[in-house]
Amino acid sequence: MFDDQTHCAVVVGAQWGDEGKGKLVDVLAEQADFVVRYQGGANAGHTVVTGDSQFILRQIPSGILHPRATCVIGNGVVVDPVTLFSELDALTERGVATDGRMFVSNRAHLVLPFHKLLDAASEKSQGIGTTGKGIGPAYEDKIGRRGVRVGDLRDMGRVREFLEQRVARANRMLEMMHATERASLDEHVELLSGYAPRLNTLAADTGLLLHRALRAGKRILLEGAQGSLLDLDHGTYPFVTSSSTTAGGAAVGAGIGPTSIDGVLGVVKAYTTRVGNGPLPSAADPADDERLRKEGGEFGAVTGRPRRCGWFDATVVRYAVRVNGLTGLAVTKLDVLDEFERIPVCVGYELDGRQCEEFPDEVEQLERVKPIYEVLDGWRAPTTEARRLDDLPSAARAYLTRLEALAETPIRYVSVGTRRDQIIAVR
Ligand code: GDP
Repeated sequence: MFDDQTHCAVVVGAQWGDEGKGKLVDVLAEQADFVVRYQGGANAGHTVVTGDSQFILRQIPSGILHPRATCVIGNGVVVDPVTLFSELDALTERGVATDGRMFVSNRAHLVLPFHKLLDAASEKSQGIGTTGKGIGPAYEDKIGRRGVRVGDLRDMGRVREFLEQRVARANRMLEMMHATERASLDEHVELLSGYAPRLNTLAADTGLLLHRALRAGKRILLEGAQGSLLDLDHGTYPFVTSSSTTAGGAAVGAGIGPTSIDGVLGVVKAYTTRVGNGPLPSAADPADDERLRKEGGEFGAVTGRPRRCGWFDATVVRYAVRVNGLTGLAVTKLDVLDEFERIPVCVGYELDGRQCEEFPDEVEQLERVKPIYEVLDGWRAPTTEARRLDDLPSAARAYLTRLEALAETPIRYVSVGTRRDQIIAVR
């Protein structure tokens, strides 16, 4: 990904999330000086397998597993201090040195316990299928200009005043929503007073830090969470997440100018999955859905929820190419298809009896589209040991060539297993 022309690259999910971004970031972080999370919060669940160890990172950039990389939680992220420090402590316990390699933006907003109560209460009435981690309500407070930011913790007296108003407001809302639980001011004050000293040591003007790094010719990897189809603006609204997951959000959420970004890698599974509610046009029939879920281990890393499974959807990926300006694709989990005899690929949709070229901008239309399938031959052979394209069975190569043509974007990486080394870099 990085070369003389590419110093600042974004890795985004080009479907509905869980594409295997964590693994790609882990692979690419080896060449990066900085790895930056730019949106979302502890609702992400990146699974990274290094040798025999498995790490699930919710809040901390996956780059932390590479000793050389400095990790940044950018201003666009909402930070849950409880998850952040339990993750940092767990990494330390497992021998990953984090001291001096982690920075959190002063401008990042905090996720507080009352956000989780509000999330649970609104999920009951709205049914979006959120992870219940308080992310949506924390972003609502940010947009409503009543959020508490990491930098605020430098003055705990002021934070206490803030909290009095915020907790009272949250309790009024909980009452309106007929929720039984209430937030406690003391619990909030105690929590933030406890975490403030530690958080203050990580807090920085991270936009400035990255700006200086870019000027010094350092390599920066911006790590997206969730997927393009869950983007607040460009996703299948209202079944979306509360932040800008697409590449444009990387500039805003990291605090750098968009002209600094010179590569955007879209991560796609060789098939499609979706967790939470909302339409999935290329959903497989129940038997294949079950088989894909079993072979691919398609259960949420944060919630354990089963993911709905379907076939590769070229309309979705072409749309992701457009809204992100993708310069390349990374196809993951090719090995999951190893035993399938025939593999359908959704090449387009039919809507109201007419072929529809572009991804619909309304979820109601997306619910009504009929997928148009092309069925490709499976390869019925293991791909997990392949390290070059030439090592793959010819039907697997043909499958990738077809995906590349449908997506109109070059494939740069193919992942054939969970381990770091199970990757093909396409020259
Ligand atoms: P992320 O949020 O996009 O990083 O995705 P998740 O971590 O939620 O899900 C991806 C899952 O797929 C993880 O369990 C990875 O270990 C696994 N994974 C990633 N790449 C591959 C691959 O090429 N093959 C297989 N079998 N599993 C993979």
